[in-house]
Amino acid sequence: MEAFFASLAGLVGPEHVLTGDAAAGYAVDWTGRFRGSAAAVVRPRDTGEVAAVLALCSAAGVAVVPQGGNTGLVGGGVPLHGEVVLSLARLDDLAPVDREAVQVTAGAGVTLQRVADAAPDLDLGIQIASRESATVGGAVATNAGGVRVLRYGPMRAQLRGIEAVLSDGTVVSHLAGLTKDNTGYDYPSLLAGSEGTLAVITKARLRLVPRLRDNVTALMGLDDLPSLHALARKALVAVPGLVSAEFFTSAGLSVLQSHADLAPPLPASSPVYLLLDAAGPGALDDLAELIDDLPAAVGESAADRRRLWSYRERHPEAAGFLGVPLKLDVSVPAAHWVELASSVASVVADADPGARVITFGHVADGNVHVNIVPGAPADGRHEDAVFSFVASLGGSISAEHGIGALKAPWLHLARSEGERALFARIRGALDPPGTLNPHVLPR
Ligand SMILES: Cc1cc2nc3c(=O)[nH]c(=O)nc-3n(C[C@H](O)[C@H](O)[C@H](O)COP(=O)(O)OP(=O)(O)OC[C@H]3O[C@@H](n4cnc5c(N)ncnc54)[C@H](O)[C@@H]3O)c2cc1C
Repeated sequence: MEAFFASLAGLVGPEHVLTGDAAAGYAVDWTGRFRGSAAAVVRPRDTGEVAAVLALCSAAGVAVVPQGGNTGLVGGGVPLHGEVVLSLARLDDLAPVDREAVQVTAGAGVTLQRVADAAPDLDLGIQIASRESATVGGAVATNAGGVRVLRYGPMRAQLRGIEAVLSDGTVVSHLAGLTKDNTGYDYPSLLAGSEGTLAVITKARLRLVPRLRDNVTALMGLDDLPSLHALARKALVAVPGLVSAEFFTSAGLSVLQSHADLAPPLPASSPVYLLLDAAGPGALDDLAELIDDLPAAVGESAADRRRLWSYRERHPEAAGFLGVPLKLDVSVPAAHWVELASSVASVVADADPGARVITFGHVADGNVHVNIVPGAPADGRHEDAVFSFVASLGGSISAEHGIGALKAPWLHLARSEGERALFARIRGALDPPGTLNPHVLPR
């Protein structure tokens, strides 16, 4: 290995090949559930260095895990089997905004927040709570979703072009940003959601959206999930400026109140909460009509809106205050959302009566985040219970985080044998030696 490390150092500079303690932080995920150890962490500066590193690793038969901001929640970006970590953090060049195309080209290591801040009157359609750390490369690789999917779609829908490197070092680039361009296979779209298994993304061309004005945020307390879901569905039709429809419950809120110092959002507590965010002329009136006489808080100023959003955006942290969480993100058709959101905690309890469960998520997308702090050993029983339940409702075992290492054993619940065989053929064609993320998604 010493000769191999020396070759890596020759490609990127010795200060950008980390081993031992210097590499340890790259080997554990945000939740603390996935811990591995890296043979080495390599930090290239540009596409050429990425290509050279990948060619070297493939020739040496060394597996590589691409890593961006390391905020992924399914164990896909950490070296669980002693792989080399390829950190894209130093690919952080952000080109000037192309105002004619209303697009920007960003290096894989640029954070989502930097893209959102690139121009005062423009914004990135994607907003996720991890945006200060999550990178463009990671968000494309996971096809990240977040709180504005109902308005702008997921990361794939923001993608107008890509530059990527195959495992043999071949660079493929399609960054002109044409809106209409039917010249063969749409491989940028294929790489969105590929979780680092097909190629390493080095740049992305992203569409920007007009920065919203006259934003209003409303947080309502409701008695039960059926009423909450009905109100969110009504908002989809009755509020033309709707941007987000999010939910959480008193279970997560009480944890945040006691551990994160959040004051109660409303004078009286409710079992479940719906957060609606809308923008543009008429948004305030439309939301007021919907709220009617429900207990609610409405924010129009940036400070008030930030305060109301903090109750929802801090929910990913809540289970972590109770222990090391298992984070499952599932979705079902709208007709089954109430059944999923109402019953999933008891489904987990049947498998592990001592488990703590916190649910929250993107109600308009049919997406529930099920955060579990196990009481019994985390030996797959929790995933088995939740994913089987979701499959019985015609849903997906990953709404937005991807399959990673966490869900690989359950992919068969969501994809047929024929589909999985097709995945394997695509993978074999793009990465014949199996260098890239070999333990993410079953091969
Ligand atoms: C507090 C919090 C809130 C979150 N909220 C949301 C949410 O609302 N919606 C949502 O979708 N996700 C959410 N996430 C999950 C996470 O932030 C996203 O998946 C994000 O897109 C990951 O970006 P990253 O740069 O951190 O990627 P990493 O964690 O570094 O990597 C994620 C995956 O992408 C691969 N990868 C990374 N960079 C590249 C690259 N350049 N080329 C090829 N493959 C690559 C990795 O191998 C890995 O499989 C949240 C996470 C946290 C911690």
